[in-house]
Amino acid sequence: MNHHAEKIIRMLLPAIIMIPIAICIILATRISLLENRIAGREAVEALGTRESRLVQLSWYDENVYPALEAGEEPAFVSDFAGADLAEYIPEADVTFENVIATAEGLNYASDTASDGIHRVYLTFDDGPSIYTDDILDILAEYNVKATFFVVGRENTASYARYLRIVEEGHTLGMHSYSHVYSDIYASPEAFAEDTQRIRTLLEDVTGQTPIFYRFPGGSSNDVSATDMNVLADYLESQGIIYFDWNVSSGDAGKVPLTSEQIVRNALSGIETRDTTVILLHDAASKKSTVYALPQIIETLQSMDNVEILPITTDTAVIQHDIGM
Ligand code: ZN
Repeated sequence: MNHHAEKIIRMLLPAIIMIPIAICIILATRISLLENRIAGREAVEALGTRESRLVQLSWYDENVYPALEAGEEPAFVSDFAGADLAEYIPEADVTFENVIATAEGLNYASDTASDGIHRVYLTFDDGPSIYTDDILDILAEYNVKATFFVVGRENTASYARYLRIVEEGHTLGMHSYSHVYSDIYASPEAFAEDTQRIRTLLEDVTGQTPIFYRFPGGSSNDVSATDMNVLADYLESQGIIYFDWNVSSGDAGKVPLTSEQIVRNALSGIETRDTTVILLHDAASKKSTVYALPQIIETLQSMDNVEILPITTDTAVIQHDIGM
C-alpha cells in the first residue's frame, strides 16, 4: 500500500468509526420515542371503557394522590347528572367581588377582532389529573373544544390523558414541566431547561410539537427571580406563543370556591369582550371546577354571537402587562 493511500485511510478512520455510532444513537433515540408513543397508545386503549378507567383512576388515587379522602369515588359525568349540587359545594367565604377586584389589578392586551363574535377560550391549567377524563367527557358531551396547559407527569395514566386531549381535537399547551416556581424561575437557563423538558415529553407522547405556553402564575407573576421579559423573549425565540387569561374562574384560590361561584366568575363580562380567555384548573383538588363546567358551557352556548373555541394560531393573543 502506498503512503498516500494509507494517509487517506487514517484521516477517514475516525469518520468510519463515528458514523455507525452516531446511527446507533439516533436509532436508540427513535426507538425510545416510539416505545413511549406505543405505551401512550396502549394506555389509551386500556382506558377505552368506563369500567377500566375507574380501575385506573382508583389506582391513581391510591398511588398518586394519597391525600384524597378515603372512600371518595372518582367523579364521572353521570355521578352528578341529576344529583343535588349543593351536597358537593364546599364551604367558602371568598366572594365574586374579591376575585374581580384582584383581576382588575391586571392590564390586558386590547381586543382586535370586530366581527361581532365573542370568542371564548376555556383553558385548563395544571393537568393531567384524576379529573382530566371527566373534563374531556363533559367537553365531548357538549361538542366543545378547549385548551389544556399541562405539566410533566411521567406515568401511563398521564400519557393516556395527553394523548386523549390531542386525539379529541383540543389544544395541548405547556405549563412548565415541574411547576415549581423557585426552580423554573431561578434563571433563564433553568427556565429553558424546564421548557425543553416538557416540550420533549409532549412530543414523545403525542408526536406533535406543542407551541403554546402558559407561565405558572401568569406572565405578570411577582414571584419570578428572573425578569419575565427575558423569559418571554426566550419563548418567542423558540417559536412558542404564551397566553395569559383575562377572566379568572377563581378556582385556584387558597379558599375553595363553590361551583356556583366558579360559574359566576367564569361568565363575567363575556359580552363586553371580543376575546375571553378563561382560567380554569384540571387538578385533583379542583372537583368544583368539574361540577361547574356543564353550566358554564350551557350558558355560553345559550348566548347570542358567542363561540367556544380551542386556542390556535388564529386566536387573538391575550397577555398580561409584564412591566419593565
Ligand atoms: Zn398552574
